[in-house]
Amino acid sequence: MSDETSTENLNVLTSTQSVVKEALSKLGYGSEMYDLLREPLRMLTVRFPVRMDDGTVKVFTGYRAQHNDAVGPTKGGIRFHPDVTEDEVKALSLWMSIKCGIANLPYGGGKGGVICDPREMSFREQERLARGYVRAISQVVGPSKDIPAPDVMTNSQVMAWMMDEYSQIREFDSPGFITGKPIVLGGSQGRDTSTARGVAICIREAAKVRGIDLTGSRVVVQGFGNAGSYLAKFMHDAGAKVIGISDAYGALHDDKGLDIDSLLERRDSFGTVTKLFKNTISNKELLELDCDILVPAAIENQITLDNANEIKAKIIVEAANGPTTMEATRILSDRGILLVPDVLGNSGGVIVSYFEWVQNNQGYYWSEQLVMERLEELMVQSFEMVYNTATARKIDMRLAAYMVGIRRMAEAIELRGWV
Ligand code: NAD
Repeated sequence: MSDETSTENLNVLTSTQSVVKEALSKLGYGSEMYDLLREPLRMLTVRFPVRMDDGTVKVFTGYRAQHNDAVGPTKGGIRFHPDVTEDEVKALSLWMSIKCGIANLPYGGGKGGVICDPREMSFREQERLARGYVRAISQVVGPSKDIPAPDVMTNSQVMAWMMDEYSQIREFDSPGFITGKPIVLGGSQGRDTSTARGVAICIREAAKVRGIDLTGSRVVVQGFGNAGSYLAKFMHDAGAKVIGISDAYGALHDDKGLDIDSLLERRDSFGTVTKLFKNTISNKELLELDCDILVPAAIENQITLDNANEIKAKIIVEAANGPTTMEATRILSDRGILLVPDVLGNSGGVIVSYFEWVQNNQGYYWSEQLVMERLEELMVQSFEMVYNTATARKIDMRLAAYMVGIRRMAEAIELRGWV
């Protein structure tokens, strides 16, 4: 095992690049197209000062990556996390391009991040950090240039501050600059639960093709933040038994099914709930629980060569970005486990972000029912396209998703005469 582990690639950028390369080659594109698409077209690094509550000034480092804008403006979330790296932000922007391609949205991928730990910062310090980051990147973003959104440890309040800061810099109201806003500031109905809704639709479609009845099925969810907690609730409401959930501090397990409504009420705004319990298990044990459906909804590199053979789930739907390494993907696929990759599984978030941007541009707002109907249509269409490609070509779902997702961008690049 240790020999194998040493050959595993845990760098999310280079491992993503290897799948992009294979997808482009299967689509018949040469090395120039790969060379253009393997890295973002633009990568901005910023350092900016933030006044802390005690009067001192701290300098933070942030990034904004714009992978490719051949199809349209770039789009993607902003992450506040101590482990943010340049490579991670680049990989996340690449994944966004593929996601938008699969769902047929008129965007390329973008992503941002700031190295910080908002859990250690006050509300006002977080506000000054959010505003400082927008001032630092304001030249390269905008409603028809690059449109940010929430990601790990950023939420609708952070989007509200960022939208306000951007509107003040530009001197006009700019709701279309950022998505994931509160409803009163131009947010869309259903945006806060959209990632989880999309994951739930993928679970339903995957269960259908595998002949699994969701009623009474056993579900395990890693991560209890925006994506994981709502997903647990939707699965619980759909009649499944959520037997395990976790956060960064540990995991809870009950074979009879956890009380999801009470856990939802008790979690904090960072998705922490297990600290309230004595009887916890580890995240490693959680992932290896005997279950039908496993949803990693936390962070990268959780299913690796170390545990891929121990996973008991029949279906894995990735709500998190990059939770499974490429080596583990191969093992799971060889073992006949249906793995719905991140670029499809969590695309509900960017789909409803797109709806929000369309509504902002139109100044005309949709009902929640209309948002849900359109989300359902795009998710089912995306799932079918990826599943049918995987089946027809006898390849795993991740490679199939990359082929579907990158094709339109490559076509647009050729038509523009870039390659
Ligand atoms: P969040 O910050 O709301 O929640 C993250 C959850 O993961 C928390 O419960 C946290 O405690 C847990 N966690 C953190 N580190 C962990 C660790 N080492 N082990 C186990 N759990 C850990 O974030 P989110 O918005 O729910 O995002 C989760 C994942 O979903 C990320 O990969 C993100 O990129 C992806 N995603 C989110 C959205 C969205 O709309 N929020 C959209 C697409 C993809």
